[in-house]
Amino acid sequence: MPQLGFTPAVGDHAFTPKQRELLSVARELGTTKFAPRAAKWDEEASFPFANYDDLRGAGFLALCVPKEHGGLGADYATYMMVAAEIGRYCGATALTYNMHICSTMWTGVLADGIPMTEAQRAEHAKRRELHFARVVNDGAIYAQPFSEGSAAAAGRAPFGTTARKVDGGWVVNGRKIFASLSGAADYYGVLCTEDKGDQHPDARDTLYLAVPAKSEGFSISGEWDPLGMRGTVSRNLLFKDVFVADDEQLMPRGVYFKGAQTWPAMFFTLAPTYLGIANAAYDFTVQYLRGEVPGEPPVKRRMYPTKQVAVAQMRIQLEQMRAIFLRAVMEAKPNPSRDERMRLYAAHYTVMEGANDIARLAIRTCGGQSMMKHLPLERLYRDSRCGSLMLPWTAELVLDRMGREALYEPGEKDE
Ligand SMILES: Cc1cc2nc3c(=O)[nH]c(=O)nc-3n(C[C@H](O)[C@H](O)[C@H](O)COP(=O)(O)OP(=O)(O)OC[C@H]3O[C@@H](n4cnc5c(N)ncnc54)[C@H](O)[C@@H]3O)c2cc1C
Repeated sequence: MPQLGFTPAVGDHAFTPKQRELLSVARELGTTKFAPRAAKWDEEASFPFANYDDLRGAGFLALCVPKEHGGLGADYATYMMVAAEIGRYCGATALTYNMHICSTMWTGVLADGIPMTEAQRAEHAKRRELHFARVVNDGAIYAQPFSEGSAAAAGRAPFGTTARKVDGGWVVNGRKIFASLSGAADYYGVLCTEDKGDQHPDARDTLYLAVPAKSEGFSISGEWDPLGMRGTVSRNLLFKDVFVADDEQLMPRGVYFKGAQTWPAMFFTLAPTYLGIANAAYDFTVQYLRGEVPGEPPVKRRMYPTKQVAVAQMRIQLEQMRAIFLRAVMEAKPNPSRDERMRLYAAHYTVMEGANDIARLAIRTCGGQSMMKHLPLERLYRDSRCGSLMLPWTAELVLDRMGREALYEPGEKDE
């Protein structure tokens, strides 16, 4: 079996031949296309359209579309490995790619593990064909706008965006914030609450609908000038009496809520981007201290013991991140045990906070000249800070969940 000629961002592993092949493509695209372009999207806060053309050309937009529907048929673990590799070269591309891929993975391999009635399963099988075909045949891009600036995206309240049943479809009203791929996506996979007219919105009535970008009543607004992840172009979306046909349902009624409970690892898909960024900060530091950064004076700084210690510390943290990341990826499944769930939270936290730790150490040890704008390190530092902010598993909310779940049995309360 041919071996990889490089160590992937997730570290060494007994990769399958297909994983090796996909990782090699990701690496090739990353080194030749994504890394050289990354500064441009960051400077302009513009969407990496050229990278999406390359992803489309490689068939990667359909990475998780099952083979029988014309896709590359990658499973959860394979996606997580490939995504980390992409994140190593362009964080904004990897993060937005995650939003797109989840639309196909949740409706594909993850939905297969969510309990459904026979009727729901049949409805889902028919509808997802439409979405898969759009991605495979037309190269369509899907976004994943959940956040509303309320407790909903944290899973603590029903979504304020509503969908009312009408003949042949739904009428959607509401507002989303932080919608990565805004203006770039062809479809927006919106989570909203079914409006049953009884004034009692219930999270169990969450609907997952694909709103076509050309829909009447749909608009994008707001400034986008953030600290990091600038190429994600995550602006606000407004839905004003937007009609969406029945076939745009990405999951049957009520299934999303069950899915989120059954498959907690679905939220871990935000992490590989940041594992990739941590790798990039480490890679750069080694290159810089060896005096091998192209275009920079060949000044070696590696002979100072403090630098060697800093690189050792970075490598230790990177190995810890890779190890717990891969463990959580390999054991991701429906209905994980309590230990597996705790490990999943721990892996998410470790990657999201660790990426910024490594980027911080990288700047400290490489020094002042390394944080100039023409080098990637200061962008990696800014991008790495964003991982812990992402709902539903922000660093704070992971701590909150882990502490509670460690100290309370399900249903247990204090007197
Ligand atoms: C680069 C980037 C891209 C993004 N892309 C998308 C996207 O494509 N789609 C999408 O849906 N969202 C996206 N988001 C949004 C993200 O997931 C969060 O929704 C957003 O960052 C929340 O910001 P906020 O200020 O409204 O947080 P707030 O809701 O004000 O929360 C602030 C902090 O308080 C804590 N907190 C929140 N709720 C609770 C609670 N109930 N209990 C205890 N603590 C709590 C959390 O730690 C949270 O970080 C993106 C964010 C970033 C930074």
